[in-house]
Amino acid sequence: MKVLISGAGIAGPALAYWLHRSGFHPTVVELAPTPRPGGQTVDIRGIARDVVERMGLLQTIRDRRMHERGMEYVRADGRRAAAFPTELLHGAGPVTELEILRGDLSEILLDATSQNIEYIYGDSITSLDQDDNGVLATFSSGTERRFDLAVGADGVHSRVRSLAFGPEAQYVEHLGGYGSFFTVKTPEPLDGWMKIHTAPGGRWVGLRPDHDPQYAKALLNFRSPLLPRLKPADQKALLAKTFAGVGWHASHVLEQLQETDDFYFDTTSRVVVPEWSRGRIVLLGDAGYCGSPLAGHGTALSLVGAYVLAGELAAHDGDHVRAFAAYQRELQPYVDQRLQLPPGGLKMAMPMTATGIRLRDASTRLLTSRPFRGLLAKLAGEPDAIALKPYETLVTR
Ligand SMILES: Cc1cc2nc3c(=O)[nH]c(=O)nc-3n(C[C@H](O)[C@H](O)[C@H](O)COP(=O)(O)OP(=O)(O)OC[C@H]3O[C@@H](n4cnc5c(N)ncnc54)[C@H](O)[C@@H]3O)c2cc1C
Repeated sequence: MKVLISGAGIAGPALAYWLHRSGFHPTVVELAPTPRPGGQTVDIRGIARDVVERMGLLQTIRDRRMHERGMEYVRADGRRAAAFPTELLHGAGPVTELEILRGDLSEILLDATSQNIEYIYGDSITSLDQDDNGVLATFSSGTERRFDLAVGADGVHSRVRSLAFGPEAQYVEHLGGYGSFFTVKTPEPLDGWMKIHTAPGGRWVGLRPDHDPQYAKALLNFRSPLLPRLKPADQKALLAKTFAGVGWHASHVLEQLQETDDFYFDTTSRVVVPEWSRGRIVLLGDAGYCGSPLAGHGTALSLVGAYVLAGELAAHDGDHVRAFAAYQRELQPYVDQRLQLPPGGLKMAMPMTATGIRLRDASTRLLTSRPFRGLLAKLAGEPDAIALKPYETLVTR
């Protein structure tokens, strides 16, 4: 069976890996002209670790992992206001024990698949027409091709979802903020810490370790209502305006905004789609279920989702109706669990006033103090609401 996958981020290549392994013929189409290197550290937590182990990639990921000591909130002069050390929550807090740069993970998945799988870069689907026998896809390059199935693994603003399920506004909930990530020369040694300075107005400027200690992954996050779609130059201008006058290393980060070659900017949004399939078309990863970086777990959900989707397709011998129903049945409890936002959402994490910031820091210190640690670790370490089926057909085909 020929399966068209839109999106070569994390979910797309992971699905292509499993489909190829079980005898399907995936083709991945990616809008960007080349693989997208950007992003900060993402974590492979919980059951997702078992998935990458079954892919035979756990050791490769471990070899490239970032050894992060935790996350700290810093004041404008760089002094620590509060912190979540990695080991405090037994590796299940904001920074986990297995962290990897998103660009490294993407590269590992592409390395594991590009020899056997067709990747098309710089193109995208413009229409999908399905009938009893398959799906006819038209691409912006002008070509037309038939497939048996089509998968939207093209992120929060999925084209496949707009084409087959309806407008984005039905499924994407703006959580009241924007986030940007890019690489900068580091203004100070980070010593393994992810550091975040919060300025009044709901603004975060952060630095996170890179492999090369001379560099850091910068983040600029801010609270805002939904804005019209902006071009990258306008996104950068907006960041420059929003973060002007913010202390700590904000001006250093802004100075490098124009030169960076891995600039990423997006809304902080949650994606909830009640039914993940329409006939022969199905959604995977952020395109179908996403709790936003605030909820975390996005990478884990896409890796586990890819495993379950491929496993059910193989187990049902390509009968997409039964396979897609089983995919949703298996994964839904885990998705529901991991789309939960932390109490208070962005308002709590990114207060608007200096008093709010002091209160957040004080409550963080309290929660991470000895009497509360056990409770916090228990909440953070809640087991994933899914048990991986063995899907023997995945390996024996
Ligand atoms: C460059 C980049 C940096 C990121 N950095 C972070 C980060 O630092 N922290 C974090 O928590 N999350 C980050 N994310 C999001 C994170 O990767 C996802 O939340 C999660 O891993 C789920 O992966 P996904 O494959 O579903 O979505 P994504 O990783 O977003 O991948 C979707 C892919 O689809 C492609 N695409 C979009 N539209 C089309 C189209 N019309 N046709 C074909 N392809 C299309 C995109 O270019 C992208 O490669 C980043 C995503 C990207 C693309």
